Amino acid sequence: MEQDVVDLVARLVEIDSVNPSLVPGAAGEGEIAGFVADWARRAGLRVEVVEETPGRPSVVVRSNRTGTGRTLLLCGHLDTVGHAEPLGARVDGDRLYGRGAYDMKAGLAAALIACREADRAGIGGEVVVAAVSDEEHSSLGVQQVLDRLTADGAIVCEPTELTVVTAHKGFVWTEIRVVGKAAHGSRPHLGEDAILRTGPVLVALDRLNERLRSREHPRLGPGTLHASLITGGREESTVPDLCVLTIERRTLPGESVADVERDVADLLASCDVTATSRTTLSREPFEIDEEHGFVGEVVAAVGAALGRPAELAGASYWADSAFLAAAGIPTVLFGPPGDGAHAGVEWVGLGGTVECARALLATAKGFCR
Ligand SMILES: [Zn+2]
Repeated sequence: MEQDVVDLVARLVEIDSVNPSLVPGAAGEGEIAGFVADWARRAGLRVEVVEETPGRPSVVVRSNRTGTGRTLLLCGHLDTVGHAEPLGARVDGDRLYGRGAYDMKAGLAAALIACREADRAGIGGEVVVAAVSDEEHSSLGVQQVLDRLTADGAIVCEPTELTVVTAHKGFVWTEIRVVGKAAHGSRPHLGEDAILRTGPVLVALDRLNERLRSREHPRLGPGTLHASLITGGREESTVPDLCVLTIERRTLPGESVADVERDVADLLASCDVTATSRTTLSREPFEIDEEHGFVGEVVAAVGAALGRPAELAGASYWADSAFLAAAGIPTVLFGPPGDGAHAGVEWVGLGGTVECARALLATAKGFCR
């Protein structure tokens, strides 16, 4: 099994699957979805390709049921971001380098091998691997897949350094338009400078960010915000009539989009500016009660497979887990170790990826009996 895991990670990393919504003209999931479907069919697994959005397929792989046991869903995304580490798998010691190795082709390979091995072991229930498109942009894949399947428990195999992740933040993008009045630069008293008026808004946002620090989630720390985009002005000698500022707020479990919108509205009201704001994209935070039976089952199986106690943790990033949890499926994240997601140098630990596959298989054997 060890060599199969390593070989599969390398094959997946060698296939270009840059998300075309991030990089226009990029390869997308077509080739890698075809590879995963062929691999699964050859392994004797059942395969369904879900392609509601042309060119953006997801693949659902199922083990063969021998009884009435429960269904475990393992979820991984097929797409990668575009910049950073070039394509191609390069192995150096225990590390496999390449774009998407860590985020998250290694986790996907571990899930597929665990599904195949659970099938060979003749589990009564089912292991379903959802290899989904577009996680790095709009999560089209997981939403389309969830329209046609459910499960008794789910593990998102994003890289977690072999910890069992029970929470991650959500995010809200807000566009703020501060409106001024254009005038000739020699007669500024006739205009209203939209860029200067944005100054107090930025100061107020910085203060709000500090206030957020007073509430900490035990696994995630405080919510945060940052100013991500700003644009305004027309030319040097014109008082600007518009400044557009986009902020990203990372939310804790329990914080809603409405909470963020109210905070921004209150803040703008306190700044004495003419401004509007709107939410351009939001994603829910994710949290599962650590006393939930599913968490206990995963922790026990992972601990037994690794030969050491499984650690619980929070993840700094957002993942498709929020959609699975919203669909009512008890969910955790568990995946391999490495570094460099979305960065210039990306690698995954091969020994850790094999351990990840073993732990997923142990969980499946216990959960899907
Ligand atoms: Zn990812």
